[in-house]
Amino acid sequence: MSADRLAGVGVSPGAGYGPAHRLVREIPEPPRGSRHGGDAEAERRRAERALEQVAADLSARGDRAGGEARDVLAAQAMMALDPGLASVVAELVGQGVSAPRAVFEAFGKYRDLLAGAGDYLAGRVADLDDIRDRAVATLEGLPLPGLPPDPPEPYVLVARDLAPADTALLDPAAVAAFVTEEGGPTSHTAILARSLGVPAVVGCAGATAIPPGTRVLVDGSTGAVRLSPAEEEVARAMRADADQDALLATVTGPGATADGHAVPLLANVGGPADIAPALAAGAEGVGLFRTEFLFLDREDPPTWEEQQDAYRAVFEAFSGSRVVVRVLDAGADKPLDFLPPPAPEPNPALGERGVRMFRHYPDVLAAQLDALARAAEGTSARVQVMAPMVATVEEAAWFTDACRTAGLPSSGVMIEIPAAALRAADIAAVTGFFSIGTNDLTQYALAADREAGALAGLQDPWHPAVLDLVALAASAAAAAGRECGLCGEAAADPALACVFAGLGVTSLSMAALALPRVRAALARHTLDACRRAAAAARAANSAAAARAAARAELPALAELSL
Ligand code: PEP
Ligand code: MG
Repeated sequence: MSADRLAGVGVSPGAGYGPAHRLVREIPEPPRGSRHGGDAEAERRRAERALEQVAADLSARGDRAGGEARDVLAAQAMMALDPGLASVVAELVGQGVSAPRAVFEAFGKYRDLLAGAGDYLAGRVADLDDIRDRAVATLEGLPLPGLPPDPPEPYVLVARDLAPADTALLDPAAVAAFVTEEGGPTSHTAILARSLGVPAVVGCAGATAIPPGTRVLVDGSTGAVRLSPAEEEVARAMRADADQDALLATVTGPGATADGHAVPLLANVGGPADIAPALAAGAEGVGLFRTEFLFLDREDPPTWEEQQDAYRAVFEAFSGSRVVVRVLDAGADKPLDFLPPPAPEPNPALGERGVRMFRHYPDVLAAQLDALARAAEGTSARVQVMAPMVATVEEAAWFTDACRTAGLPSSGVMIEIPAAALRAADIAAVTGFFSIGTNDLTQYALAADREAGALAGLQDPWHPAVLDLVALAASAAAAAGRECGLCGEAAADPALACVFAGLGVTSLSMAALALPRVRAALARHTLDACRRAAAAARAANSAAAARAAARAELPALAELSL
């Protein structure tokens, strides 16, 4: 790969262009015992200048932001210029300690004082740490931690990986694209990028070495990342993107194949913020409401009232439509502080997750189901509830009972563990519906951790083994007269969406922004073509061959540039 081109896995379609900003979370502690070269006065001045620069940056940010932020940042700037702090730094530098280490240790003294000084001051410790990290980064020539404040133009966020907490704070209007070195196509970086509508490339080797400020063009469909492209190239990519959006917007209405076989197109939502984009994209309901996304940063279980309000907001927005709510899927890649695994786990993805967790915390499940039942009262949404990570018939039956006790008649299970897909007929006998989670189903079928960027090549839902499992679940559901939806990220791939329809999946749920592409792909192919594509993909012996064979049966995809 040449130095001006990088490649990763495109996980959120669209073109994005802007200057690179490297997200750094933690500035490493300057090594204990690090010494300067001997000129103490020059080193002291270096430290002083770094603190002045940090103070000036903070004040300037405050002035730009105005309001309350100005006062908060002005107070932080004052801390950086505190004469007491400067004299501790000078004393340490006088003893030969390097400027970064002296700054680090001087802040350490203040930190201990503040931490022991009662609630209000203890709350300022985080501010102090932020100033310390900024000063140390400035002295060591490292990128500053955190997101850029008030960027003058949308930027390309480059990171080793993005935690849900990082992306939650992002203003999507300020971010042109994400590029991460790690993370697979089903990681939560990918899921959140799609729900924010930000083009994203993950698993991109070399991404974190992109020099900050380099202008970067990102293609979230192909995974291409172009450094310092020519203006014409950027204009061409942006134009193609806009043309495609305009073309797709002409296909509207409920999801169906060209010959009228209905495949309802539903939205994946994580909370009230996802409602407006889902409605704007014409979602026919919600196929996956990831309730754990509401409570990712909570230390205590959410109250019954909080839950009820959050659920009701989604039910009311989708009155008259189906809303499939998944109970909290805690554990592994989505840890919840208030539902910790009962013992340390060597391999969380194969540990206590999803429905298994509720066997340890039955009261949390009972409270959630009760809040859901009450929130559903008085709305006309058709509320259905499902359990994540079901492996056995016993778990499915246990969950069905719990829902019945809570007064929720429509309950189902996610099919995301190969055992559940293989024995779907047994599970169908004790549950109301299936929803296939291809993210986890792929992870477990290929034994490739969905968070591991290095394994992105294996995390491919096109793998015929995954398609076989989907086919088994869909046909077992049909034989039992049950619906079999699919709500993994693979539903957002227009070609795979057609294949899933051909395999007998009865509805598809995805990030709202993917709906127009999938709607257009289905509308241009008959059910027969989808079935042929499915058969061709299953007959292949690799993911790449399956993709190529299916696409050959779906000629309109190329016409639509999908
Ligand atoms: C899945 O595994 O496909 C799924 C939809 O659930 P999640 O991504 O939230 O684990
Ligand atoms: Mg899952």
